[in-house]
Amino acid sequence: MSHSLPVLDPFEEYEKKEKCGVFGVWGTPSASQLTYVGIFAQQHRGQESAGIAVTTGKELNAHTGMGLVNQVFTPRILTEDLAGHGAIGHVRYSTTGSSRLCNAQPLLRQYRMGPVAVAHNGNLINAQLLRELYESHGHIFQSTTDTEIIVHLLAKPSHVEKNDPLSHVLRHLQGAFSLLFLFPDRIEAARDPWGIRPLSIGRLPNNGPYVVASETCAFDAVGADYIRDVEPGEIVRIDDSGIFSRKFAEPALEQAQCVFEHVYFANPASRVFGINVQRVREELGRQLARESCIEADCVIPMPDSGRTAALGYSKESGIPFIEAIVPNRFVGRTFILPDQASRDRAVNLKLNIISDLVRDKRIIVVDDSIVRGTTTRSKMRALRRAGAKEIHLRISCPPIRYPCFYGIDFATPEQLIAHDRSVEDIRQFIEVDSLAYLSLAGMLSATKISVSNACTACWTGNYKVPVDHPVSTFTTEPEQLKMFY
Ligand code: SF4
Repeated sequence: MSHSLPVLDPFEEYEKKEKCGVFGVWGTPSASQLTYVGIFAQQHRGQESAGIAVTTGKELNAHTGMGLVNQVFTPRILTEDLAGHGAIGHVRYSTTGSSRLCNAQPLLRQYRMGPVAVAHNGNLINAQLLRELYESHGHIFQSTTDTEIIVHLLAKPSHVEKNDPLSHVLRHLQGAFSLLFLFPDRIEAARDPWGIRPLSIGRLPNNGPYVVASETCAFDAVGADYIRDVEPGEIVRIDDSGIFSRKFAEPALEQAQCVFEHVYFANPASRVFGINVQRVREELGRQLARESCIEADCVIPMPDSGRTAALGYSKESGIPFIEAIVPNRFVGRTFILPDQASRDRAVNLKLNIISDLVRDKRIIVVDDSIVRGTTTRSKMRALRRAGAKEIHLRISCPPIRYPCFYGIDFATPEQLIAHDRSVEDIRQFIEVDSLAYLSLAGMLSATKISVSNACTACWTGNYKVPVDHPVSTFTTEPEQLKMFY
């Protein structure tokens, strides 16, 4: 009956999965190899599937597969199947659409204007509505991902006839989208008017090829220099003549930059929304110490995402920083674990606790967040078994109370432990001596993102791009909705 058991990742519990990472490069015969490196460097943004599409100047070719980047590509695929001078690549988690090869990106499609490949980071909140509308007119979709609707919008005859079809199409979309399009003669990079997900432009040395990526750690990996971010509402075209900017929409008056990119997702080496992630995380930890310090013998980071915040906490509080939890990097992500007892045991496999360092100690453990709480409880139990006398858990963001509709795969509201529970209830559930979260104001001051430009929806329920009326900036009236077709 093992087929009926839920497949769980005991450490992420379906939690905190970023939708995707993208990379593109134009103007080099090594385009596919550079793209391979660029998506490899962003593997943390998606581990379910990977893909690269290239242009030969006349046609596009793509290779996609399930698994990690180094499992999907071989040297032969990169140099022979994917020969070309421009490329885009993608790593994916499935937040919309299931984890299947048909949903792996870049999506390569042929329409009357020729081939196009699309790579998407984010989540479209009006995709389902648009899809139903297009299906009612006979469109057949080949995947279940929200991204495919973009190609159908592009191929619609009345859109093709527009002066700037891509700008026209992007104005139909609501939600989070950092997009790369590959056409035979160019890359087009676009970012939603709310600026929810990052997207940056770089360039290889000596006026070399331009590159575009979700995160600037990809630029470091390929040896490119950061130039600037793609602005909210902007399309950046890169072709043999150079790089060109145009707006498809005015930036939203209130931006919605995802603060969670800084708290958890992004690589510490990356520059996200204009500031280095490592510096932000250290400041999150410092602020946490200012807000909720307690007498203890040591500060222990929860690997790996709590590490930098723990360092900041230690520096600010003067309490020694001790790495007492060692992750086992060779444990795979997915387990078949039917019950809590199994998940508790699995923590011992994933995390080695150095009991000599925690026995009889009053420890402060710093982690980035608590989602469902069951994994956190397993970890706290393991520390208790290792002999910790007191456990004080400090979290470098506020309680996550609401789901994300913009491309982060949190649990449903009912599954979020903080959705309808007090901090004291959570403390009791995870079995620690004290629990404190960073305040919203403290978090925003560390990220240097103003309230008016930040998305804080998973903490506050304030969804700047409305999700209950997913086409609200257009119309939900059936008659008028027809205009979108
Ligand atoms: S809801 Fe949270 S995770 Fe989602 S975009 Fe907003 S800040 Fe990021």
